[in-house]
Amino acid sequence: MSATASILRQITGTTALYGTIAHPSVHVRAPMLFNKIFQEKQLDKVMVPIDVSSDNLAATVAGLRAMGNFKGLAVTIPHKLALASLCDELGLAAQITGAVNAVRFDEDGRLYGDNFDGHGFVAGLKGEGRQIAGKNIVLMGAGGAARAIALSLVQSEIESLVIANRTPEKATEILTQISPHAGTTQLSDGAANEVDLSAADIVINATSLGLHEGDRLPFKLDLLKPSCLVCDIIMIPAETALLQQARSRGFEIHYGRHMLDYQLDLIARFIGAYE
Ligand code: NAP
Repeated sequence: MSATASILRQITGTTALYGTIAHPSVHVRAPMLFNKIFQEKQLDKVMVPIDVSSDNLAATVAGLRAMGNFKGLAVTIPHKLALASLCDELGLAAQITGAVNAVRFDEDGRLYGDNFDGHGFVAGLKGEGRQIAGKNIVLMGAGGAARAIALSLVQSEIESLVIANRTPEKATEILTQISPHAGTTQLSDGAANEVDLSAADIVINATSLGLHEGDRLPFKLDLLKPSCLVCDIIMIPAETALLQQARSRGFEIHYGRHMLDYQLDLIARFIGAYE
């Protein structure tokens, strides 16, 4: 029996519905991943792609909210910001980033959204056996992904975090937002081309540099100590020029795909997919 036939056989009047909302939706991976989990765990649930333009987002969410058997959404491009504003309640990461990538539809009709990009990155490091507590970390970049990662890092008992960006004002803005949640972590920010990398235990590229062939490296590898872990969050190419060069020079490296792979479990728990 094909995978589709086997899923269809499981859909009954009691099946709980989940969706992955996107536009376009042809590229989404979540339905395949979630339906595999539902099958393996023999759960009476199914996830379908929901292709909705930005103009129709609010009407669609209102409709889903009205459905008694609709339980949750995985959210992707271009709806992460707009859906945050349609939620009744947001987790801290969603408040700080202004974006959601998962929404739970509670029994009372309330929508609770959160953002798992940063938690996925930290879970990825831990899941791949990296220690982060007590470490000195430099985060290159101050876009949406960096913002989520910065929050999760300072919630993970790291020693220090430096956020460095081409436009340093954006790094300062993130620092201001996360500092109330940073506990004893020492925070600083700066310009990407001036940051001191020599004491870093972990350096993370959270800029878009490396997405395109011919991009310069986001930082110079000769400035790092030999034990430094070099991380990228770019997933395509799977091994960026930064990671290729770091690996060939003997540095430990950490791939971008881990950030997404380790989010699946976090999002599944959040939207109640395992229950
Ligand atoms: P974003 O909000 O557009 O931020 C882009 C960042 O890259 C900013 O810090 C920007 O600096 C910097 N940047 C862009 N071009 C640059 C250049 N030529 N020189 C120096 N810095 C440059 O993007 P984002 O959503 O944070 O995403 C950043 C990257 O992470 C993307 O490549 C995306 O593919 C990847 N990503 C991966 C995952 C995952 O699950 N693995 C999740 C989300 C994103 P300025 O502020 O100075 O413009």
